[in-house]
Amino acid sequence: MELDLSVIVPLYNEVESLPDLHQQIVQVVDKNKYSYEIIYMDDGSNDGSLAILEDFNEKDPEHIKIISFRRNYGKSAALHEGFQFASGKYVVTMDADLQDDPEEIPRLIAKLEEGYDLVSGWKKKRHDPISKTIPSKFFNWFTALVTGIKLHDFNCGLKAYRNEVVKSIRVYGEMHRYLPVLAKWNGFTVTEIVVEHHPRKFGKTKFGVTRFFNGFFDLLTVIFITKFHRTPLHFFGFTGAFLFFIGFIVEIYMASIWFMGIGIGQRPLFFLGILLLIVGAQFVLFGLLGEMLSHHFNTQVEYAVKKKIGFNE
Ligand code: UDP
Ligand code: MG
Repeated sequence: MELDLSVIVPLYNEVESLPDLHQQIVQVVDKNKYSYEIIYMDDGSNDGSLAILEDFNEKDPEHIKIISFRRNYGKSAALHEGFQFASGKYVVTMDADLQDDPEEIPRLIAKLEEGYDLVSGWKKKRHDPISKTIPSKFFNWFTALVTGIKLHDFNCGLKAYRNEVVKSIRVYGEMHRYLPVLAKWNGFTVTEIVVEHHPRKFGKTKFGVTRFFNGFFDLLTVIFITKFHRTPLHFFGFTGAFLFFIGFIVEIYMASIWFMGIGIGQRPLFFLGILLLIVGAQFVLFGLLGEMLSHHFNTQVEYAVKKKIGFNE
């Protein structure tokens, strides 16, 4: 029988928060009479979190599932693995640190039932230190700008998806920040609702300053993978050909004055032209290399299929 709901909770050393969190989730899903599973993704905790989870499972093996990593692989890996095993029609993810509120689950699901494929939480009133909220504002603004997706809070841990969304996006590295981008670019509809957010009560954040750099690089990857994944030459080829062309014009001009008997060895423009020729040619070659890689690795191509009609499954 298909379940209504899979709740996926990635956690890394959240031992103090787990009892309250668990109780709150169970209370909400029971009250709403969902058929459900809770999948706790233990991302290599070493503070005794796993023992607590095992205790939950012992008391209610029907609903409580656990996947425990041997080491800390990161939130994206934890989500990815949970996604593969989620069997509910709807999938809700939430952080384990009690910053996300399980009470929001029914509201997220109601929004999915309006027809959306992914509903992201928006922590409009955030309870985090300013060193986090200000950079995050910038990140969200920038991501919305370059992706054209109008969300205020891409990285909110609290999100709801239709099952087919989580099965068709691949999240690794620190790409969990851009889940709505990956979904949207696979053709799914994405929206957001404002959600409650609480200060962290126990423990501390698991992401340090490196989050900013990694976040930026992952955005580049996301853009590149989703837009040019199968056609790297379209990206590099165009830029390269353009630079090469400018360089070529410059050098034609330089050559013509040289033929008129004017020395060009000291002209900055001469060197600029050469630089453009070399960089341009390099870009085109990078593109070709990329094409070879993509050709090599994409023997199995995955496309997000909306419907299949007339096939026996
Ligand atoms: N988390 C995880 N693996 C990690 C880092 C974090 O599973 O390597 C979990 C963490 O336990 C929490 C959620 O991801 O449930 C969000 O982490 P955190 O609260 O530290 O992030 P912040 O709220 O500071 O952005
Ligand atoms: Mg948190």
